Amino acid sequence: MNRIKDIRQTDILIVGAGIAGLSAAIEAVKGGRVVLAHKGSPNISSTQLAQGGIAVVMDKTDRPALHCRDTLYAGAGLCSKKAVRILVNEGMARVKEMLEMGVFFDRDDSGLLLGQEAAHSRRRILHAGDSTGAEIERGLWQYLQKNNQGNLTIYSPAQCLQLLIERGRCHGGIFLQDGQQFAVLARQTILATGGYVQIFKYNTNLSGLSGDGIALAYRAGAKIRDMEFVQFHPTSLYDLRPHESQFLISEAVRGEGAVLRNVLRRRFMPDYHPSAELAPRDVVTRAIVAEMRKTNSDHVLLDFTTSAINIPARFPSIYRQCQDLRINVAKDLVPVVPAAHYSMGGIATDIHGRTNIRGLLACGECASTGVHGANRLASNSLLEGLVFGRRAAAAALKDRTGEKAFAGNIDGVKINNSANIRAAIQEIMWKYAGIIRAKAGLTKAREKLQKLPDSSPEENNLLLCAKLCVRGALRRRESRGAHYRTDYPRRKWLGRSNLQNIMRSTSRADNF
Ligand SMILES: Cc1cc2nc3c(=O)[nH]c(=O)nc-3n(C[C@H](O)[C@H](O)[C@H](O)COP(=O)(O)OP(=O)(O)OC[C@H]3O[C@@H](n4cnc5c(N)ncnc54)[C@H](O)[C@@H]3O)c2cc1C
Repeated sequence: MNRIKDIRQTDILIVGAGIAGLSAAIEAVKGGRVVLAHKGSPNISSTQLAQGGIAVVMDKTDRPALHCRDTLYAGAGLCSKKAVRILVNEGMARVKEMLEMGVFFDRDDSGLLLGQEAAHSRRRILHAGDSTGAEIERGLWQYLQKNNQGNLTIYSPAQCLQLLIERGRCHGGIFLQDGQQFAVLARQTILATGGYVQIFKYNTNLSGLSGDGIALAYRAGAKIRDMEFVQFHPTSLYDLRPHESQFLISEAVRGEGAVLRNVLRRRFMPDYHPSAELAPRDVVTRAIVAEMRKTNSDHVLLDFTTSAINIPARFPSIYRQCQDLRINVAKDLVPVVPAAHYSMGGIATDIHGRTNIRGLLACGECASTGVHGANRLASNSLLEGLVFGRRAAAAALKDRTGEKAFAGNIDGVKINNSANIRAAIQEIMWKYAGIIRAKAGLTKAREKLQKLPDSSPEENNLLLCAKLCVRGALRRRESRGAHYRTDYPRRKWLGRSNLQNIMRSTSRADNF
C-alpha cells in the first residue's frame, strides 16, 4: 500500500460531531488547535435524531440524589456510582451553559417545561418538541462556529479508517475524504463516533453509524467493555415500507399517558410491572415480545387516545410520520415493535474519558464510562455526551504537553470496496443474539459471523462489533438489564466484561 504523503498536524483530533464531539470541541478550542472530523455532510449522527429530550434536575422538587438513584436502578447494578454522580451533578451546570449558548427548549410562562419518561421518579426531561437532538446539534454547532478563536478546522465528510499507534501511544488517525487518504497527527485523539446498534436488523440508528470508533480502538489494543449490553427500545413504528432505520416513537409519549395494547386490544403492561408502561425499557421490551408470541403477532399497539395532551403540538414529527402511514393518532392505534436503539458497551474509559492507550480518549455513545451500566435510563445519553465530552477535552488539554511526536512512516489503509455483509450480520444478530438470548443461539451466531468474508471498512467494523457483542453475551452467564438469557434467567454478580485485542493488529483483527 502506498505511503501517505498528505500529513496534517493538530493538537487535538476529535472524531465525531454529535453531542459528545461538539461538547469536546467547544472546550478544546479554548486551549489548542482542534481538528473536528465527521463522516457526513450534513452530519450523520444519532444526536440529530434524538426525540424525547435530555434528563436534568431542574424542578424544585427534584434532587441530584434522586436522578442518581433512578440511573443506578435502571443500570441494574452495573453502573459506576462515581460516574453517575458526575453525570447528574455536572449535568446541571452543562445544561445551563447550553441554554446560554442559545439552545432552545420548550417553555411556557412559568419557565422550562419538563417531561416524564420511564423509570424517572420526577419530571426532568427538557425537550424541544420531539426534535430535541436536532435543536441541540444546531445550537452547539452555531456556538462553536462563532466561538472557536480561530482554532478549529473541520473535515467532512471524512471517515476515520485507522488510528495511528506507535509504542502504545495514539498519535492521530488516517482519514478518507473524496477518495483520498490523509493522516492527521495529533497530540491527543478523542473518539466520539457513536454506537453500534446497526449490527441488528431492526434498529433506530442511521446506517452510517457502524461502531467505527469501537472497532478502531479495539484493533489498536484499547479495552472494550460490556458489549453485550444493547438497549432495545420498546416502541419503534412498525412499518413494512423499505427504510434505512426504524422510526422511533419516543418513550415520552408513554410518559404523557399513552398505553400499550396487544393485537387483541388488551392493555398488558400492568401484568408485568407495577410501573406499567413506565417500567424500565428492558422490562417493557420483553413484555412486548411475550405478548407478540402469545398472540402470534409481529407487533403490538400503542394507544395515544388515553393521553390528555395535544399530540400534534407536543410530538409533531411522530404525528406526521404516523399520518404518512395513514394513521390518525387521535383515534387509531399505532403498530409498534421493539428495535435495537442504544449501545451501553464501548471503549472503556475513566471518568475523564481516558482509555488504556496514552493519547486516546473516548466520549459519548462509543465510550463505556460506567454511567449506564446494564441499561441506560431514558434521556441520560445526551447528558452523558455533553458532560463527558467536555471532560474528555479538559483531560486532553491537560495531557497534550511533553508528548513525543510520531516518528514512523504512515502507510495507507488497504480498502476493500465490496459492501455485501451488512444484511447478513443484521439477520444473524437479530435472530440469534437479539432481545432474548441463549447459549445455542449465541454459539450459532458466533459460527455464522466467523464465516462472513472481508468487506468494506464500515462493514468490517460492524462485523467486529457484532462479534464482540456475541462474545460478551456468551461470557455473561446471567440475565441483567438489557442482556437476557433464557438459560441463565437470574442475576448473578459477574462484574464488568472486558474484551481486549491482545494481538494489537491495526488491520482486521477479527478472529478470536
Ligand atoms: C432515534 C433516536 C432517538 C433518541 N432519543 C434520545 C433522547 O430523547 N434522549 C437521549 O438522551 N438520547 C436519545 N437517543 C440517543 C442519543 O441520541 C445518542 O446516544 C447520542 O446522541 C450519541 O451522541 P454521540 O455524540 O456519542 O454520537 P452521535 O450523535 O451518533 O455522533 C457520532 C458522530 O461520529 C461520526 N463518525 C462515526 N464514525 C466515524 C468515522 N469513522 N469517521 C469520522 N466520523 C465518524 C458521525 O458522523 C457523527 O458525527 C436517541 C437515539 C436515536 C437513534
